[in-house]
Amino acid sequence: MQTRSQQFLQSEIQSRLVVPHAKGGGKSRPHSRHKHSRPAPLFSAGETVRETGIYEVIHDRAHRSVHEVVMLSSDAFPACDSCGAQVRFRLVRTAPYIFQDEDFEESP
Ligand SMILES: [Zn+2]
Repeated sequence: MQTRSQQFLQSEIQSRLVVPHAKGGGKSRPHSRHKHSRPAPLFSAGETVRETGIYEVIHDRAHRSVHEVVMLSSDAFPACDSCGAQVRFRLVRTAPYIFQDEDFEESP
């Protein structure tokens, strides 16, 4: 009847929940996974851009509010006209430059 099938279901669920640790059980890993809120690296003026993408420009003493720019890899981060080499760049998101994409590259 209904109760029977319900009981069956329950025991079925329980047997699935109580899965014995077959392999690698009992080994508690050290707390190495702490990289959730890893701060993005900041780049300084004069450094070479490693990855094309959108960068946040953070100016010294916030003489200008943070704004986003596109930087191309192998270019150098420029100095700011106002705060010079104090400006910092933070990678927001990598995104390939269209003409560096294999389907859009200008072929000779
Ligand atoms: Zn500046």
